[in-house]
Amino acid sequence: VTKASLIVVSNRLPFVLSRDAKTEKLERKASAGGLVTAVCPVVIKGKGLWVGWPGIHLSDPNEPIPESNPTDQTPTAGLKSDQVVSVNIDASIFDSYYNGCCNKIFWPLFHSMPGRATFGADHWHNYVTRNLGCRVDRNNLLVEHGGRTVRIRPLPIGIPYERFVTLAKNAGKLLRSDKQKVILGVDRLDYTKGLVHRLMAFEKLLEKYPQHKEKVSLLQISVPSRTDVKEYRELKEEVDQLIGRINGRFTTANWAPIRYIYDYVAQDDLAALYRDAAVCLVTPLRDGMNLVAKEFVACQINESPGVLVISPFAGAGEMMHEALLCNPYEVHAAAEVIHRALTMPEDERVLRMSRLRRLDDFDDYLLKYIGYNHKLALLLDYDGTLA
Ligand code: UDP
Repeated sequence: VTKASLIVVSNRLPFVLSRDAKTEKLERKASAGGLVTAVCPVVIKGKGLWVGWPGIHLSDPNEPIPESNPTDQTPTAGLKSDQVVSVNIDASIFDSYYNGCCNKIFWPLFHSMPGRATFGADHWHNYVTRNLGCRVDRNNLLVEHGGRTVRIRPLPIGIPYERFVTLAKNAGKLLRSDKQKVILGVDRLDYTKGLVHRLMAFEKLLEKYPQHKEKVSLLQISVPSRTDVKEYRELKEEVDQLIGRINGRFTTANWAPIRYIYDYVAQDDLAALYRDAAVCLVTPLRDGMNLVAKEFVACQINESPGVLVISPFAGAGEMMHEALLCNPYEVHAAAEVIHRALTMPEDERVLRMSRLRRLDDFDDYLLKYIGYNHKLALLLDYDGTLA
């Protein structure tokens, strides 16, 4: 392990390991999520260290972590194996503290959805048993541990903007037909992302404005997420059924209203979709930041740009004033906003997008902050360590 002045601690490493069935060798597979997109470039540039669970329970904890594959295009590609500290956690404790405490209690609570939280004393116990035993001074954002006082700062995350511009410039065309407009959604499959509301708004759009039939389709990418948690499996069922119902209702011989990818899509392909989509729907019920909104804007390099529709309940929505605001809970109003985005004149689209692309919020805020203000920084994810 190298000496590093930047240490990131999160539940999971920025990639997960899996074992090839034939060769039994370990392989790296990128995990999707804003944390990886935002923080990995910082760790790579800052020659930092990432501490976390490797996504697999290793029987030999000293088994070496593989280097990335030479063809790897993911944000973790430049992260060397000696920049990674893999933490093995007993499988039952992991299930209780992560799936139980972090995902069933903290996640809904921190997203203002207490009704979705399922409390379990065992989960809390297993969470407290692991992580720091420190005193937290909430007013001054200080933590005392092991005789030291550590300052805590919440830092808004951004994206590696130039990386996405380059990906968009180099990406081939994935959307073939120029006659049909594509509305794009890209999310982990998580109930905070408002996917059910979004699908209902799209259904209302087709009901109220039939002129969009056969002209517009919704391409929804949903990355499997937290599939060990019951609520997430139930959400998948609900989304599958809803898409089936809407497609069954409106599909014609030559057109289906919703195309649905339930898989991880690599960012070079995402860049092509961000670049060529007419509208990007970022409509979470609650989201700390939402990087998809920023990535869409970064990839909008076409002369005739698309439109960003954003929920006021996403952190990104607070900065992106030139996007169209959409309250995902108001399904009828959301359908109107989507209609407005689809029919917006080009001069208004150009004006809005050029202003959005000037946002200096895109700067690599984390790296700047750490570079200028700190010799040593410890970044903790929400489910990382602070109780
Ligand atoms: N992402 C990806 N492939 C996908 C879907 C998403 O690489 O198929 C990435 C996307 O580019 C973005 C991140 O996952 O960087 C999602 O981050 P966001 O902040 O929007 O949401 P989070 O998943 O962290 O809640």
